[in-house]
Amino acid sequence: MTEREGVIKFTLDYEASAAKPFAAFHVLEAWRSIYKETGLIGEDPARYDGYGFGNLSARTRAGLVITGTQTGAIECLREADYAEVTEWCLAENRVRAIGPIKPSSESLTHAAVYEAFEEIQFVFHVHSPDIWRATEQLSIPCTPADVAYGTVAMAVSLKEITAELGVKGLMTMLGHEDGVMSWGPTAREAGESIISALAEARAVSSSAG
Ligand SMILES: [Zn+2]
Repeated sequence: MTEREGVIKFTLDYEASAAKPFAAFHVLEAWRSIYKETGLIGEDPARYDGYGFGNLSARTRAGLVITGTQTGAIECLREADYAEVTEWCLAENRVRAIGPIKPSSESLTHAAVYEAFEEIQFVFHVHSPDIWRATEQLSIPCTPADVAYGTVAMAVSLKEITAELGVKGLMTMLGHEDGVMSWGPTAREAGESIISALAEARAVSSSAG
């Protein structure tokens, strides 16, 4: 596997600043704690060369707040572990961000989903072998296998699929091992769709014996 989780592939214009409170912090942390407990967000020496995986974001007035780069191992995040992406350009593969930490390497991928509909307020990205492997069986919408993580092609593909599916939904990224993306107008809609898909994936895998 040549892809490397956690490596920022866009041009980052980053300004370091003190942590500042934001409205979605507690709800993001609530969902993140559930995903940590279920292994959908984390860091594991046996997975993805030991890089952290999974990241959550919420829309802000200026852009979006997102978990910082390589925070997967941290049990509970503080506001200082989030960055705000204030500007981006898919075509130019460029992100501008401010905060106490650099934004997730998957920031542009999240931004692409927000671009599809103004109503989207939350975008969650987790890593689930169960959901990912059930893509075909459950007819889960997906980005193509030859589109790699963190690329402009991935961002464009995500935006197109989101635009087709609507303001809430879930897809897998076949070119990004175990990658799952969900989104919605509320954290509940983005959050529950992952848990529901996980249950469906486990149901089909257990019925397959
Ligand atoms: Zn990922």
